[in-house]
Amino acid sequence: MNKIKNKYLFIPLITAILSLFFLIVSSTLLAKDNFRNYTNFLKDLNEKKISKVYITQSPKINVKLQDGTMYETDNPRTSNFKEELLKKNVTVLEKSPTNLKISLSISSLIISLAVLITMLIKSSKIASKGIRSVDSLEIASVENNNLNFENVAGNEEAKESVKDIVDFLKNPEKYTSYGARMPKGIILYGEPGTGKTLIAKAVAGEAGVPFYALSGSDFIQVYVGVGASRIRQLFKKARNNGKAVIFIDEIDAIGKKRQGSNSGGSEERDQTLNALLTEMSGFNEKEGIVVIAATNRLDILDPALLRPGRFDRHIEISLPDISAREKILCLHLKNKPVKDIDIKEWAKKTAYFSGAKIESLVNESAILACKESSEFIENYHLDKAFSIVIAGYEKKNRDFIKEKDKKITAFHEAGHALVSLKLLPKEKVSKITIIPSTKGAGGYTLSIPEDSLYQNKDYLKKRIMVMLGGRAAEEIIFGKDYITTGAYSDLKQSSNIAFNMVSRYGMGDTLGLLNMEELQSLNMNQDNIIKECKNLIDTLYKETKSLILKEKNILEKLTTELLSKETLYYEDIKGIKNIKSKSETNEKTA
Ligand code: ADP
Ligand code: ZN
Repeated sequence: MNKIKNKYLFIPLITAILSLFFLIVSSTLLAKDNFRNYTNFLKDLNEKKISKVYITQSPKINVKLQDGTMYETDNPRTSNFKEELLKKNVTVLEKSPTNLKISLSISSLIISLAVLITMLIKSSKIASKGIRSVDSLEIASVENNNLNFENVAGNEEAKESVKDIVDFLKNPEKYTSYGARMPKGIILYGEPGTGKTLIAKAVAGEAGVPFYALSGSDFIQVYVGVGASRIRQLFKKARNNGKAVIFIDEIDAIGKKRQGSNSGGSEERDQTLNALLTEMSGFNEKEGIVVIAATNRLDILDPALLRPGRFDRHIEISLPDISAREKILCLHLKNKPVKDIDIKEWAKKTAYFSGAKIESLVNESAILACKESSEFIENYHLDKAFSIVIAGYEKKNRDFIKEKDKKITAFHEAGHALVSLKLLPKEKVSKITIIPSTKGAGGYTLSIPEDSLYQNKDYLKKRIMVMLGGRAAEEIIFGKDYITTGAYSDLKQSSNIAFNMVSRYGMGDTLGLLNMEELQSLNMNQDNIIKECKNLIDTLYKETKSLILKEKNILEKLTTELLSKETLYYEDIKGIKNIKSKSETNEKTA
């Protein structure tokens, strides 16, 4: 903002200099060229050439001739000089002549100087304000942000979840007239580079409202109180503009769960967080302000942030699966000169890439092509760029997952899904994916449980089997010695259920109907309970393995589909689940 002001400062400055220059030149010229000596003047007077004479106290007088020319001559300072002139019919004026050129340049000089001074005062005010609060400079407002949902490829679920926010921003009155309470805050969470900022910008762009952005990390290591005042300034600025999207990146930097010990920076963080919460509860829904925050992890956030009326909508932005990657590639290659690039193939190769990484892959290849002055970006540019990008990222995180790991994940998830499909057919398996997310490091299988008040013993046993399905599939396919750590959380959960069955729900033999918690004071030996839990799990694991073995056809089909599509939805799964099982086909062939 200051820079723009400075630019305009040149205008009065230049006018002032020009008019000063003009003034000096014209007055010196006037003085030099227009002096005639007194005798010449007397001659003109006698010849009746003179129309006006300007007399002042100065040593020079100005003379105007009939033909309009002006000159200066010496002031005779005689007492009857005026009378003499009057007698000769010359108009006598007792003032200096007004020279149009000179008076014009004087007035333009004065005006431009005045403008210059006011501008200087103003900008120095802005500058001094800037020093008092560093904030205003750092708040970036992208007023004419022309991004929209078309700039976000894939992420369909997330886009769907923010569509009503766009509608709300367009006409908040409509929603308030229905008494609907729109979320004031939304949290987008997911891996870095998955397009969280992009989506927030697209929301503002779609709704046609200004976008204000700030990063949580800006608040770390600043003086106490500065963070809070920045927050207040940001909201004030946004509110002055009416509707707005306020984006806070890396919200975890200020909104992390409070730890017991009060370490140095935490006071500042608390103040900042409190300012944010106060501002958020301060504005009215009608105002049409939505705060969008982004974080890599939802689970580390302070619960105070997530309460209703604050950031109560949480949207996961996951890594793109193969079809999303294809769309992202298309989007970024769209306006570039490309030749013979198989986008489908590249979508396959870029497994586990984030949107940002795909973007940088395309960008690197464009740079390479440009360096070579090649007419097009070709496949081998992408190949080269691929190794650059991989090398750059590989060190930083686990991104580049090998084909083999992908296969293990696929079989593991297919195992869960298969057991679920066979044992709990009423639970809809809505999604299987081998794209890691906060729901699972390798991948995950999502099923929607049937609604019921109670869970019976049979159901709990089947649930345990579904959890064991992942490990069972690994063991069947890769062999006993090649089972992986991928089953860690599955085993945790299944042990938990088994233990509860035996020790709390009265579903085991060792304790029968006794509840262990109530017997704790008896200091009894728990070995038997553990033994029973182990037996339970072991039996269920055997059953799971034989189920998977029987349905190996389906397991394999699910895996192949997973490996090619990475994410399978209900519709894809529906078609697979009714494939004839091995035993049935065997019966036919036999
Ligand atoms: P995040 O905020 O999640 O870290 P960004 O929104 O900053 O990620 O993404 C960085 C860049 O990566 C974007 O500017 C865009 O070029 C690219 N990108 C990420 N996700 C997508 C996507 N879904 N579609 C298109 N481009 C994407
Ligand atoms: Zn699992």
